[in-house]
Amino acid sequence: MSDEIKPRTWMSRAINRRQMAKREHLRIAVFGAHPADIIFNSAGTIATHAQKGDKVLAVPVTYGARHCNPFLAPAKESGYRPLEEVKAKKLVEIQNACKILGAELHQLDFKDQIFVGNHEEIQEITDIIRGFRPDIVITHHPTDTAFSDQPDHATTGTAVMRAVKYANEWGAESKKPGFQVNTVLLWPSHHDTAMYLVTPYITPANYYVDVSEVVELKSQALRCLEGSMLATEEAVDGAIKAMSVSWGGAAGVPHAEPYIYTSPFVVKGLSRREIGPHRQMLLPPGWTVEQYESLFPLED
Ligand SMILES: [Zn+2]
Repeated sequence: MSDEIKPRTWMSRAINRRQMAKREHLRIAVFGAHPADIIFNSAGTIATHAQKGDKVLAVPVTYGARHCNPFLAPAKESGYRPLEEVKAKKLVEIQNACKILGAELHQLDFKDQIFVGNHEEIQEITDIIRGFRPDIVITHHPTDTAFSDQPDHATTGTAVMRAVKYANEWGAESKKPGFQVNTVLLWPSHHDTAMYLVTPYITPANYYVDVSEVVELKSQALRCLEGSMLATEEAVDGAIKAMSVSWGGAAGVPHAEPYIYTSPFVVKGLSRREIGPHRQMLLPPGWTVEQYESLFPLED
């Protein structure tokens, strides 16, 4: 092998760095199994970045038309709503939600409940990644409720992570040039919603986006999703707000959205700031911030 031939990844990363030096704004692609997943998990993150002028692409890989069918009034003749009718309704809903948040929408049409992330599906996701060239990809954790209430989540997480890799493969069957995604953020597994409780995975968040400033926009976007709601809009809205407050508590801000950052953190050495408590919630019981900081000042 000649010395000039370098591994593909290095070349692509060098190209990416040059491209990114020219880019003023981030590009973020959010892949959800169902339209509502994107809004439930990342509406605040999307709105925050859209307001900064970053480009956000929302990609629901299915309409969730089977999954959400029971939430809609059954048709008299068949007992369920025709899929095309549900899809049309859900498309308008997610279009409205994306408009509120400032995201571009690319709706895919994989078959919810039965798609398995086959090579055509991975190819389709790969083409979106190669076309949009996101700095950051956000999606489900590949263990999210696998084999239980919502297998589409795990399937989507796995397919998207495969596509992230495939997007930069030699010989990938795509007319678009290869692209290396720099960062993948995963939504933590929602083990508590597993119907049969067979998902043993608990994947705690290690990365939070402060969405306190845009929590009302998130509510507005959620209210567009009538066809994805089992409960009333108000109940879902309340539940989501309670969740963002609880994640915010873990992050030390009023409202947050949680992620798993998939690259390792590397520091030159530990400092008190890294190992100390973040605001009050992690203080030893009975301590005040002042007491703690008087013993462990955060100057370093
Ligand atoms: Zn879902």
